[in-house]
Amino acid sequence: MLKRYLLAPGPTPVPPEVLLSMAMPIIHHRSPDFLPVLDSAKKGLQWLFQTKNDVLILASTGTGGMVGAVNNFFNPGEKVLVINGGKFGERWTKICQAYGLRVEEIVVEWGYSIKPALVESALKKDSEIKAVFVQATETSTGVYHDIKGLGSVIKNYPDTLFIVDAISALVAEDIRTDEWGIDVMVGGSQKGLMLPPGLAFVSVSDKAWKKSEASKMPRFYFNFKKERENLAKNQTNFTSAVTLIIGLNEAIKILQKEGLENVFKRHARLANATREAVKALGLGIYSKESPSNSVTAIEMPEGIDGQLVYKTLREKYGITGAGGQDKAKGKIYRMAHLGYADTFDVITGIAALEMVLK
Ligand code: PLP
Repeated sequence: MLKRYLLAPGPTPVPPEVLLSMAMPIIHHRSPDFLPVLDSAKKGLQWLFQTKNDVLILASTGTGGMVGAVNNFFNPGEKVLVINGGKFGERWTKICQAYGLRVEEIVVEWGYSIKPALVESALKKDSEIKAVFVQATETSTGVYHDIKGLGSVIKNYPDTLFIVDAISALVAEDIRTDEWGIDVMVGGSQKGLMLPPGLAFVSVSDKAWKKSEASKMPRFYFNFKKERENLAKNQTNFTSAVTLIIGLNEAIKILQKEGLENVFKRHARLANATREAVKALGLGIYSKESPSNSVTAIEMPEGIDGQLVYKTLREKYGITGAGGQDKAKGKIYRMAHLGYADTFDVITGIAALEMVLK
C-alpha cells in the first residue's frame, strides 16, 4: 500500500468537511435555494480579500481570472508594466500581448523580489503606463513580492491600475486589498482556499470599474460588467459552479473559525519551519529574497536532479510535491505548506526528502 500525500502548490488537499458539503444534491443556480449560498460566498470572499470591493466568482481556473483582468480594463495599444520574475510573470506578459497591449517588462532575476523603487522610476519616466501587473507569490520561484510597497508607489498614479495575481498567495499571506490600493486581485480555488480546481475570484476597485467603462476589448465569457450586475442579484452570468461554491462557503467557514490572523500565522510558522529544516539538511533556499509562506523552493545539491527527486518522492513515498519549471527545472524541488496544511505535513515532507537524498 502506498499512502498518498499532496504537498504541491496547487491543487492542495481538501478538508473532509468541504468534501462532504460538496456531496449534497445539486441545486438550481437560478432558484431561491442558491441565492443565499452565493450571498454568503460573496461576503466571505470580501472578508478573505480584506475588501469592500465586489469579488467576482468565475467558473474557470485562475488563469481565466487573469484573462478577465486584462480584457475588461484596457484598449489595444495601451501600455502596461509587467513585473516578470518567473513563469507566472511571463504569463501576464503573454496574456497582455494576446490582447494587443504594449508591454514593458521589469525582468526580475529568478529567486529575487521586485524593488518598488524600480516601479516608481518606471512610472515617473513614462506617463503612458496604464497598469502594473505582478504576482503576489511567484509560485515558480517561491518568492513573495512586496505588494504593500508596490501599492504605496502606485497609489500616487491616479491613471495607473495595480493588478495582482494572488492565486497562490491568497490565504497564506496577509494581503490588504483596500488598504494597499489593489485595483484588481485574482485568486483561485485550488490553492490556499482548500477547494478543488475550477473557480477564479477577482476583486475590482471603483477606480478599475471606472477605467473599464472605456475598454472596448472583445469579451464574451469573462464579461466583468455582466458578472457584477449578476452578483448584485446573488447570481453569476452563466451557470454557477454550484457545487464548488457550496464548498467555498464551507472552506471559508473553517478559515473564519480559525481567524484570519491565525491563518496567516500558521502559514508563516509552517513556511519558517520548512526553511529551517531545509537548511538543517544542508540544502539551500532558491528564493534569495522574500521567501513565500505558500511554497518553499528547495535547491538540489550538485549532481542531483530535482525531477528525479520529485519522481522518487511520488513513486516511493507517495508524496506529490512539484519540480522546477523552465530554467529551474532539475535544479529545485518545491514543497507547499498551503491551505489545509499543518505541522505534520511539513514533518512528512521533510522526512521523506531526507530519505530520498540520503
Ligand atoms: N498564477 C500563479 C501565481 C499560480 O501559482 C498559478 C497556478 O499554478 C496560476 C497563476 C495559474 O492558475 P490556474 O492553473 O488555476 O489557471
